[in-house]
Amino acid sequence: METLLLNNTDGDIARAGDILRNGGLVAIPTETVYGLAANALDGAAVAGIFRAKGRPQDNPLIVHISHIDQWAGLVREIPEAAMALALAFWPGPLTIILPKGDIIPDEVSAGLDTVAVRFPSMRTTRRIIDAAGVPLAAPSANLSGSPSPTCARHTMDDMRGRIDAVLDGGECNFGVESTVVTLATPVPRLLRPGAVTPEELRDVLGSLEIDEAVMGQLREGVQAASPGMKYKHYSPKAEITIIKGTLDEFVSYAESAVVNGGEMFALCFDGEEGNIPLKCVTYGREDDPLTQSHRLFTALRELDENGAARVLARCPSTEGVGMAVYNRLLRAAGFSVIDVGKKCK
Ligand code: AMP
Ligand code: MG
Repeated sequence: METLLLNNTDGDIARAGDILRNGGLVAIPTETVYGLAANALDGAAVAGIFRAKGRPQDNPLIVHISHIDQWAGLVREIPEAAMALALAFWPGPLTIILPKGDIIPDEVSAGLDTVAVRFPSMRTTRRIIDAAGVPLAAPSANLSGSPSPTCARHTMDDMRGRIDAVLDGGECNFGVESTVVTLATPVPRLLRPGAVTPEELRDVLGSLEIDEAVMGQLREGVQAASPGMKYKHYSPKAEITIIKGTLDEFVSYAESAVVNGGEMFALCFDGEEGNIPLKCVTYGREDDPLTQSHRLFTALRELDENGAARVLARCPSTEGVGMAVYNRLLRAAGFSVIDVGKKCK
């Protein structure tokens, strides 16, 4: 299959809408990451997303809408707390999970009785949904397990030959996926951190639990509330280890670390390159989690492009948006963290 590269023009947006309405697959820009979209109400089209990505069948998809009125048709009901979240954060990078309506195909919810819905803020995304005339199911447009794409080139690298088209809408603003919160539990629960922070959610909801999979690896035998969080994920080919500690401790560790074959790189903060005795790829200043989230996935792809075999990563702060950055880096590292302050694994 030849994959068309479409542009952000009226004509190409209409074309993307036609392809989607007719059961095709189009990768689309959003303010978080590029999404691989299909008509959310067409189970056969949605099944194509899982094939194109190689996505595990048990990992449900987020449904994207372009008007808040579309929401009511997708869920059983909209409780007060959900409407309060929508008023505070939509359109924007927040996904809300509720019991699903009958119209949602099983392919979207991966057999769960809930559905995740998001109303994106990027104008181009909403214009594509309008052009399709249907809500769009869209997970991140990477091959399953790879870092999510944040520009059309990365999307094409993964999806060329697998889908009908990629629409180039420029670089994504946030660069990590949406915050996911479920209201289908007795107490609202954060399943995936993103640009909307736990503090901001608590201000609206009053109470919020943080799922144990957010900051660590699920213990064996515990069922994942958000199936996507149980996988090693967002991973480049290089083996990554997060090094917790100060820059000096990182440098001492890097001086003694060895790699068997291939080259060792550092994934570090802007301005640290001169202090670290390794080739460096940077992902923002230490005190700037918004830039870190914008650049992390590009940095992970750059490490592969540079042929890194092993990567030692500086550990981001987990405050505010930093929680999302740490959560993604932890999965990219396959949960490998060394606390050099404590010298334990
Ligand atoms: P992606 O679209 O690739 O960003 O992945 C969507 C994320 O949302 C994955 O981590 C899914 O497991 C999660 N998700 C989507 N729908 C649900 C749902 N109904 N219940 C729990 N998690 C969900
Ligand atoms: Mg994804």
